[in-house]
Amino acid sequence: MNIILLGPPGAGKGTQARHLVESRGMTQLSTGDMLRDAKDSGTEMGRKVADVMARGELVTDEIVIGLIREKLQTEKSEGFIFDGFPRTLAQADALADLLNETGQDLDAVVEMQVDDEALVQRITARSTCANCGEVYNDLTKPIPEDGKCVKCGGTEFKRRADDNEDSLKQRLMEYYKKTSPLIGYYYAKGELTSVDGLGEIDAVKAEIAKALDS
Ligand code: AMP
Repeated sequence: MNIILLGPPGAGKGTQARHLVESRGMTQLSTGDMLRDAKDSGTEMGRKVADVMARGELVTDEIVIGLIREKLQTEKSEGFIFDGFPRTLAQADALADLLNETGQDLDAVVEMQVDDEALVQRITARSTCANCGEVYNDLTKPIPEDGKCVKCGGTEFKRRADDNEDSLKQRLMEYYKKTSPLIGYYYAKGELTSVDGLGEIDAVKAEIAKALDS
């Protein structure tokens, strides 16, 4: 089963994708993670995208489509979770072509709905375990008092460079201008399911499971 998690920054796509990896053995394909890895390892492409990402703008379709193409052509999986991809109509068309070329289908597009106030709160309060990527929130899920990650016991936590109010404004603008038209696009194709992304993590998990199993 191949699915897309669609929603604005802070909707909880990464958290839910991690859960699906653990519970269903699926493979998370996060273009944001791939780009951050390229940036951290100092590749030429990583250097090219660093400023664009820091400003909260989208990197070119060509770059992200290339990243996804490579994964689809080289990795075998029980199912891919596209997290943060596609973000433009051109990327959505390219994904349809890539799946077709590799003999696969798109089974569901899950739109995670969250209002803007909650997004700002979630993003400016979030941090992750540097070792395993578990997501924390200063208000709703703080790092434990003993300073150890609940999942892996790691003691280093990091905040994303673009999780600040200025880039967040730009990221939301990019989302509404370029990504939100995908909601209509997938609705018209009969592939869209919308879930309330504002609830507790477990409630959202259950809603997504219901959508995928129906
Ligand atoms: P994310 O981790 O999904 O929030 O992505 C972080 C940043 O990476 C975004 O603000 C963009 O600059 C870039 N990015 C990630 N995925 C894409 C994509 N599919 N298209 C264009 N830019 C992307």
